[in-house]
Amino acid sequence: MQHNREAFEPHTCLWIGASWTKMARRPIRYSRSLSLDHYRASEVRGLLNYSLSCCVNALLQSFSATTELLDILKKLHPSDKTGRNNIPLQLKNTLCAMRNTSNPEPHRYFLDCLYSHTIRRFTQQDADEIFHIILNLSQNQMPDQDLAQEIRNLYDIRMETQVMCSECTYVQRVPSSSFSLPLAIFEGVNTLESCIQSFFQRQNLLDGDKCYCDRCGQKQPSTHELRLVSLPQILCVHLKRFRNVGGLTRKLYSRVTFHETLNMGIFAAEGQSENVVSGSPQADENYRLYAVIVHIGFAMSGHYTAYIRPTQDLTWYYADDSTVHPVSWANVQNTYEGSETAYMLLYRKMSRNAPGEL
Ligand SMILES: [Zn+2]
Repeated sequence: MQHNREAFEPHTCLWIGASWTKMARRPIRYSRSLSLDHYRASEVRGLLNYSLSCCVNALLQSFSATTELLDILKKLHPSDKTGRNNIPLQLKNTLCAMRNTSNPEPHRYFLDCLYSHTIRRFTQQDADEIFHIILNLSQNQMPDQDLAQEIRNLYDIRMETQVMCSECTYVQRVPSSSFSLPLAIFEGVNTLESCIQSFFQRQNLLDGDKCYCDRCGQKQPSTHELRLVSLPQILCVHLKRFRNVGGLTRKLYSRVTFHETLNMGIFAAEGQSENVVSGSPQADENYRLYAVIVHIGFAMSGHYTAYIRPTQDLTWYYADDSTVHPVSWANVQNTYEGSETAYMLLYRKMSRNAPGEL
């Protein structure tokens, strides 16, 4: 059975610039009779690209692999407050449909719902921004406040900004939180650990950057640093590959290596002999990587895909809109540098009792 609706060919997105014309998107017609294998490989299934939805598609793959999120959303029951434009309800329906049906468009209503809010069709999106929009809408539109808090707790990285007066050592503390750890990366070679270390590094505020000290009653040379207060079950790392230079956005193609496991405890433990944040993470906060959101292309035009490792599966899968296939860890490592680079990393906290668990 043929459908008249135009869909877009997998693998492609809207590319701008002559060098990408051979990859230019062209409308095709798709049929529901397409083999299910085209959409599904094991627990991961493909999603058609609608209106440049590759960014949302890649994020949906990561949400689908975040079983903890669906466990929370499943507690949401439709009510008068949850209509067709309710993001948490549509997200729940989509994630359930991605598991249980062969429907090639389980995300159709979710996309319509997103587009009815703040996200525009046919626009290149920033995955980290859309990630935050989806999670914020999921919380704000959740009729049950306990469930909204559960979603927040699942991703929330709680930190504390500490500004210490270098003259009198008085410390001003400001709490903050985020759904992702926004890491600056540098030209040349980076490791994920070095980027995290830089993020938490103490900085000296001198001259024009001096801070007002409440105790001294005047601006003083100070130090500024971020401290971890608590780490969530799902740790999202945002590699900030886009930089604004002279009003133009450019992409950093530099190398950032990362491993399948990450010990966040070392960042909590370092330099915590003074100004310790109570309840800060333990030295054995181990995480395991289960999703990588990839940006392909340039700063102003690109395409998003995702590497996913489902909870009950040792295999990595590559999801490029409607196409899904198994890959090796070496394939995931190819996103360390170049035009096809890891942009967001999702890690899951491992149980202390079972360090080898997935
Ligand atoms: Zn002071």
